[in-house]
Amino acid sequence: MNVSKLSKEDFKSFVSGLIESEQTVVGVQTKGERFAFGPLTSADDLRLDYDVTILPPKKYLLPQTETLLTYELPCQYKSQFDDRQMILLGAHPYDVVAISQMDMLFSQDEYDNHYMKRRNNTTIIACDVVTPSQNVFASSMGTATVKDGYDILLTDIGDAYVVDAATEKGKALLQGVAGIAQASPDDLAARQAVWDKNAVELNKHPLACKPSDLPELLEKSYDHPVWEEKAQVCFSCGSCNTTCPTCYCFDVQDDVEWDLSGGRRRRAWDGCLLTNFATVAGDHNFRKARADRFRHRLYRKGKYVPSKIGGQIACVGCGRCITACIPDIANPVAIYNTLAEEVASVSSK
Ligand code: SF4
Ligand code: SF4
Repeated sequence: MNVSKLSKEDFKSFVSGLIESEQTVVGVQTKGERFAFGPLTSADDLRLDYDVTILPPKKYLLPQTETLLTYELPCQYKSQFDDRQMILLGAHPYDVVAISQMDMLFSQDEYDNHYMKRRNNTTIIACDVVTPSQNVFASSMGTATVKDGYDILLTDIGDAYVVDAATEKGKALLQGVAGIAQASPDDLAARQAVWDKNAVELNKHPLACKPSDLPELLEKSYDHPVWEEKAQVCFSCGSCNTTCPTCYCFDVQDDVEWDLSGGRRRRAWDGCLLTNFATVAGDHNFRKARADRFRHRLYRKGKYVPSKIGGQIACVGCGRCITACIPDIANPVAIYNTLAEEVASVSSK
């Protein structure tokens, strides 16, 4: 019985049981007038009808800051790992895709033990979108619905959830849950209706080309004036990076004790729009111009990262960067559509 149905009342009891277990439960809750992932202490606080969270759930897999190791001189060091078992409750499909992309990036080449340990200790209970956010364009990016990357997927069908357990971890979590029953053909049809609707309607900013066309489009657009034009009003604040579920750059620093007896090595989120992101030894900044940094972000999403993860575009259409950008220049669709129009008009001449 992989696909089941659980009434909303029984689901609440299930969540209360999770909260009482040994695991840390992180779920979506209100934060002022918006929503955020945070530690869940009551099932009443969970909001699976949210539109979008301020920050993506990646903050629980790749925290804003973390200590990687501590050391004592002359040469003793100890890696620091977060061993908590965690349940991530309420990730939307586009965020599930973003996590799957990070899993690929952190497990290839230089295997990242800190990320992967946390990831392997995490059970993802995803949920289909109920309320589209004002800037979502997941339909354009093929991420409005998802077929893998989660342990359990919940679909709200009115008075109940269709509950799809995709992994052994997910099935184990549902063992013995009160009220759980096999989903009927009608329940599955109701779920399909939600998927069909979301695949079309989560599209506030339609992309004018196929996502798979983006690498070639960017290949032709390196010297396009849009980079300079948009960058003129960019604050270099990095909000488009920090709110993005697929941005994963970090900076590593050593904090050394004043008497040189030891210290700790920590990492913190970094962002390619920040002025000193590309500053290296000798104070040389190889992306000093704002336009270069602005262009780099769009190339990362549409060309550089896809070449590392089998062609997947590293923008999942969550729309968070659009909401976060005060001068309203971060919308990837607006830029890609400008480039697509230009290339189309050149090739039609
Ligand atoms: S680039 Fe913007 S829309 Fe795309 S995944 Fe990142 S924050 Fe979301
Ligand atoms: S959020 Fe907007 S202003 Fe801030 S760095 Fe990104 S593009 Fe520039």
